[in-house]
Amino acid sequence: EAANQALFDRSIRDPLTGAFNRRHFGELAEQAYLGCRARGQPFALLLFDLDHFKLINDRHGHAAGDAVLCAVAQAIRPLLTGQEAMARWGGEEFVVMWPNHDAVAAMDRACALRDVLRALRIAADGTPLRVTASFGLACATTTHQPGLEALLAEADAALYQAKAEGRDRVVAASEPGA
Ligand code: GH3
Ligand code: MG
Ligand code: MG
Repeated sequence: EAANQALFDRSIRDPLTGAFNRRHFGELAEQAYLGCRARGQPFALLLFDLDHFKLINDRHGHAAGDAVLCAVAQAIRPLLTGQEAMARWGGEEFVVMWPNHDAVAAMDRACALRDVLRALRIAADGTPLRVTASFGLACATTTHQPGLEALLAEADAALYQAKAEGRDRVVAASEPGA
């Protein structure tokens, strides 16, 4: 039973950071989004990517980069409740879902994450490393209900804009047609 649990846990998590993996997040998010739609609630997705992460690897080594990824996941985990979830989307990119959050509430939560990352001092390579990230926020509402893939694409476009505007910031996707 314990062995089965361990196997299942491994199948849903990223081995480095312990965050959920992309596949499991997709399943959780599909379910949560469906539930929100059924109840007439909004649903928010946040995609974020660490800024200039390649420099951390180049200057401090790949192990330090790994330590930063773990520290980021660890710092964010306690900020999420049971209905919320975070996953490692790939590389140095993460995704968070906030069921029943409208654009204003989700922006508030996203800014809190940005601030927590800003304040991190990660002990690695014999020195306290700092990290920032760029965040793209997308929100489904009763009048805007794209599929999960399309909502993720909106968050991705907003993230790209956050990078272009100077990084270390949150950009909300503009609703198509708004
Ligand atoms: P930007 O601000 O534009 O996002 O710049 P960046 O340097 O973060 O982005 P870029 O895509 O150039 O580099 C991402 C780097 O992340 C390259 C890759 O080697 C590194 N990376 C991806 N996965 C891991 C990992 O698991 N561990 C470590 N240490 N590095 C990783
Ligand atoms: Mg990056
Ligand atoms: Mg990246």
